Amino acid sequence: MQLKLIDSYNRQMGSMRVSITDRCNFRCVYCMPEEGLDWFDSKKLLTFDEIERIVRIVVRMGVKEIRLTGGEPLVRKGVANLIRRLSQIEGLEDLSLTTNGFLLKELAGDLAAAGLKRINVSLDSLVKEKFFKLTRRNALHKVMEGLEELEKYPQIRPIKVNVVAMRGFTEDEIIDFARLARRKPYIIRFIEFMPLEADRIWKKEDVLTGKEILEKINTTYMKLVPMGGEDPSSTSKNYQFEDGIGQIGFINPVSEPFCSTCNRIRMTADGMFRTCLFSQVETDLRTPLRNGCSDEELEQILLKAVKGKELKHHINDSSFKRTTRTMSQIGG
Ligand code: SAM
Ligand code: SF4
Repeated sequence: MQLKLIDSYNRQMGSMRVSITDRCNFRCVYCMPEEGLDWFDSKKLLTFDEIERIVRIVVRMGVKEIRLTGGEPLVRKGVANLIRRLSQIEGLEDLSLTTNGFLLKELAGDLAAAGLKRINVSLDSLVKEKFFKLTRRNALHKVMEGLEELEKYPQIRPIKVNVVAMRGFTEDEIIDFARLARRKPYIIRFIEFMPLEADRIWKKEDVLTGKEILEKINTTYMKLVPMGGEDPSSTSKNYQFEDGIGQIGFINPVSEPFCSTCNRIRMTADGMFRTCLFSQVETDLRTPLRNGCSDEELEQILLKAVKGKELKHHINDSSFKRTTRTMSQIGG
């Protein structure tokens, strides 16, 4: 009988984030240090063959969605080839990618042709100077051009724009993002800032909650109406403007954790399997992969790891312990 990736709280794993590189062409303050982060040894990076093999196995075990991430996934050479290979896997219903958008203008066509179905583009400010302050790169125009390029490829829909919301930084742009959601075919999603950054700047007070943003849009701009019908495992609460034009989502992992229905697992670029963003333990898949393990043995390793999946994260507890990896080394 085919084993399924069901954890000890009876959650069937449905979605896997696959990081394909720890490298990045940005240095976002909430993620990477300005300099000094050591890259993984290239020999440790999983090859496309190894990634494809693991994806085939987890799909057999019930995973329906794969999201490629990083670091910045578009800096990995041949990413469109990997997408082409993964898009042919039977049983895989959804293949998506999270990117900072810098290389999208050049690569959007290749990604669409390779079979990419959905995309998330990170964009935290619409103001050049603020964008630079946050990403430490002068690249707002490149990301905006990348988004425009995506509009030419209806195969890749929806286009979601992820905005990490930080107190003292995001407030004065909330309405501009709301306007963007109405003007362009982009779903804007505000994500609460989480303690996963290399520089350890996170403070609970800096988390601008989804509820605060929703209230600001409702009271000062236009009423948002819940869309409902989300998948129970969805991380995002989705709204549309009362006239039906424009969608906004809220991902509130700090103020309203969604752990009880979490069906996500992760694989880092160096082949470590993680059952939570905040996991203190990870399971090595690279060594068994390279030591000639059979698919059945890999299934057992994955199942054992999933049985140990955390019930919830502890960001809000005084006992909270950070992971030793930054977001860029895990894959967000
Ligand atoms: N480089 C790509 C990008 O930025 O979209 C993919 C990797 S990035 C780690 C994935 C997502 O994690 C991005 O949307 C980013 O904004 C988000 N992220 C990174 N650090 C975060 C943090 N400390 N709290 C909340 N979200 C974070
Ligand atoms: Fe790079 Fe994405 Fe991290 Fe920004 S959030 S530094 S773009 S990996």
